[in-house]
Amino acid sequence: MDTGFIDHGKIYDCLKNTAAPELSELKEILEHARGLKGISFEEAERLLMVEDRDHLELVFETANFVKEEIYGKRLVLFAPLYVSNMCKNECLYCAFKRSNTMIPRRTLTQAEIKREVEALVSQGHKRVLLVSGEGLGRSALDFTLETINTIYSVKVGKGEIRRINVNIAALEVEDFKRLKDAKIGTYQLFQETYHYDTYKKMHEAGPKSDYLYHLTAMDRAMEAGIDDVGVGILFGLEDYRFEIMAMLQHIRHLEERFGFGVHTISVPRIEPATGSDLSLNPPYPVDDLAFKKILAVLRITVPYTGMILSTRENAQMRKEALSMGISQISAGSRTNPGGYSEDRSLEQFSLGDHRSLDEVIKDIASMGYVPSFCTGCYRLGRTGADFMDLAKPGLIKHYCLPNALTTFAEYLVNYGSAETQIEGWKLIEKMVSDIPGDDIKQKTRENLELAKKGVTDLYV
Ligand code: SAM
Ligand code: SF4
Repeated sequence: MDTGFIDHGKIYDCLKNTAAPELSELKEILEHARGLKGISFEEAERLLMVEDRDHLELVFETANFVKEEIYGKRLVLFAPLYVSNMCKNECLYCAFKRSNTMIPRRTLTQAEIKREVEALVSQGHKRVLLVSGEGLGRSALDFTLETINTIYSVKVGKGEIRRINVNIAALEVEDFKRLKDAKIGTYQLFQETYHYDTYKKMHEAGPKSDYLYHLTAMDRAMEAGIDDVGVGILFGLEDYRFEIMAMLQHIRHLEERFGFGVHTISVPRIEPATGSDLSLNPPYPVDDLAFKKILAVLRITVPYTGMILSTRENAQMRKEALSMGISQISAGSRTNPGGYSEDRSLEQFSLGDHRSLDEVIKDIASMGYVPSFCTGCYRLGRTGADFMDLAKPGLIKHYCLPNALTTFAEYLVNYGSAETQIEGWKLIEKMVSDIPGDDIKQKTRENLELAKKGVTDLYV
């Protein structure tokens, strides 16, 4: 069994021999975390062992502190765009698996994709996550590249999609280069489980069943020059502590090899999926408390890595997760190809949050969070190591909050319902005074005035 850079023996030792810290040690680790430079992976392993409710509260408070200090109140929004549910893999947890006859199979045409994107842009979305099964054989990448072109070409009024993140099967370096040339944002691929035997059990057939090929996908993506990559774990397949320790090994490996780590971490929990018995009874279900611990430990350990929560979580958990360090969420999502412009049946898995984008935004704003549609960094070339250089000294706040406010204003002017506008402008007024630095504050006020007059795509 070749597990590459994931040292299973070391993780087993760690699970056996690591104890939760005593209160005094815990406080030391959390004090370290408040320095905003991350904590050692050994410290993270100790935190993963904490079970005591009072001690967990301290971990949550610290995660909240780190999140507020680095990201402030901004929250990036996106919509997943499912373009095909054809798949030759046999991932036991997924409705798209090859053997599932309970869902109709479909790959959208470019005209249908255009309609989907028009529906998203008309709601106010600026970022999409392009998602597809692995069913299109040799022409799959050509289809993806054509799809990216189609998405970028759609204009509705003053709106368009400005960043496309991509969640598709692992590729070879040459193909990753083509994907990079198509101007994608982040390339995302979830390992699902880092545990070799569990991985083999969960992925019965198809190219994805090759553990090592899947594990090394990010190496190939980064070799190809894609410097924003996003990893993820599907929680419920294995002991979450094993998974986090392994994911930290993955991140360390990429940091050592390329000089910078991953751009985002996604944290899906298994949801019931049509035709998947496993999804109804996952072997290691993660309860809400453990899930919050996972989020908090990740926020504290890798504070500059974005964390993405999907619509799979219900509104209450999303609320709690925001305080724990989530920096991006999907909103108004559909997980079936055609779901935005057509009907909503037969989704990939059941969604926990059925609210529209506008409802999610109103709710977020009333909680004091600023919904952001900003794509400035990526378009100014602030990606990979450059993004980390910017992020590490705490500058995210200086750029991101002003840009979040102007893109939010753009949303309100063009798409916001009357109620959301009231909530939104109240929040913008309050937040603009919190911008550090007079120059940027002044520039933001100017941009807000321009946004009110209908000027779009403003960023610093
Ligand atoms: N086919 C590509 C792949 O597997 O990497 C990308 C698309 S796949 C639909 C995207 C993600 O959906 C998977 O990585 C998996 O984590 C997630 N997923 C699959 N079944 C799920 C379920 N029942 N509940 C929650 N997430 C699920
Ligand atoms: Fe196919 Fe991805 Fe679903 Fe696996 S998770 S069956 S590869 S769509």
